[in-house]
Amino acid sequence: MKADRNMLYDNGRVFDGRQVFPAGHAVLVDAGRVQAVGPQDSFAGYEGPRFDLGGDTLLPGLIDCHVHLTMSGDGKTVTGQGNGHAALTLQALENAQASLRGGITALRDCGGVDHVEFAVRDACNAGRFLGPFIRVSGKVICMTGGTKWKIARVADGPQEVVKAVREQLLAGCDCIKLMATGAVLHAGTDIEDAQYTEEELAAGVAEARRFRKPTAAHAIGTQGILNAARAGVTSVEHGMFMTDETVRLMLERQIYLVPTLAAVEQVLLNPQAVPAASLAKAQRVAARHRESVGMYHRAGGRIVMGADTGTLCNPHGNNAQELRYMVACGMSEHSALVGATSLAADLLNLPDRGVLAPGYWADMLIVRGDPFNDIDQVADRRNHRLVIKGGQVVAGPEFGLT
Ligand SMILES: [Zn+2]
Repeated sequence: MKADRNMLYDNGRVFDGRQVFPAGHAVLVDAGRVQAVGPQDSFAGYEGPRFDLGGDTLLPGLIDCHVHLTMSGDGKTVTGQGNGHAALTLQALENAQASLRGGITALRDCGGVDHVEFAVRDACNAGRFLGPFIRVSGKVICMTGGTKWKIARVADGPQEVVKAVREQLLAGCDCIKLMATGAVLHAGTDIEDAQYTEEELAAGVAEARRFRKPTAAHAIGTQGILNAARAGVTSVEHGMFMTDETVRLMLERQIYLVPTLAAVEQVLLNPQAVPAASLAKAQRVAARHRESVGMYHRAGGRIVMGADTGTLCNPHGNNAQELRYMVACGMSEHSALVGATSLAADLLNLPDRGVLAPGYWADMLIVRGDPFNDIDQVADRRNHRLVIKGGQVVAGPEFGLT
């Protein structure tokens, strides 16, 4: 199937990123973009090629708002020794392509290494290599000794934080990542410690905002979430120790929550493969984390999908499993899928992705059955039939079907 060829995907259930249309709907794609969505009767005069959905579900390609392309789930952080940078760039490209095959047609890297992932973004977004559409944060910005300091731009005090933001802007970042607290997977940091002060975070947010860039704050403990919310970040990543106060403040400021539940769940599922300290932290936070996601959901907060792939035992390509964990926190299948499509596109500032409507890119996923009854139809990639990027079939057991 070529991107320049038109195709009618008919006889299926269609989720357009916002609402579900029952069986008997169709999507017409032409030149890589969606032409029309409607009941299949409305395409009665159409005589071009068709793809029979057979009652299955067509939805926008999934958008993952939090991955690490330069990490591969093995706990190693490559920092450019020897052929490190060259090898790491290729690995990041492989990881991006693995995500695409797993149904992720757009993603945001939430912290890389020496900006090597920027080359991968540029190559994929220009169509020189097959891959998802990519947004990048650049180096995470943290305090001395803070989370991920080995690969971060370490900056102390508001003025230095401003400079660190400017460096990421100079490198060509799409957003800014600030580390507000310790981390589950970073040895020697206490997860509940706030790291950056509200003042430092606010300085970073203000500088990013001057150049129209959103900010993401890694924030696990309550005080760090409060600091980040008061500083006005665009999204809180992880948000494990939410309270009524954090919920209220985040709602008031319409801050997105990117829970990254898979990062913790994968550690719990692979106890033999992770350091004892990380396992103990994961065990300590897991229930509280789920409860926090449920709290923000019930309060009406915006929650989007971010699988944190690249972290321990959390390989690229299995990103969609995050949806199962979101539903397990009490989110409906519908709200989880909105959070992985149209709402995620809003956070990533993707004006023509994440929704199936005329003029949008035909980034699509076809899955068996009805994911609104059983989220595993999307969350378990074995139920994916086809992944389509810009109208072109890029993965699936039926790959190459004409
Ligand atoms: Zn992360």
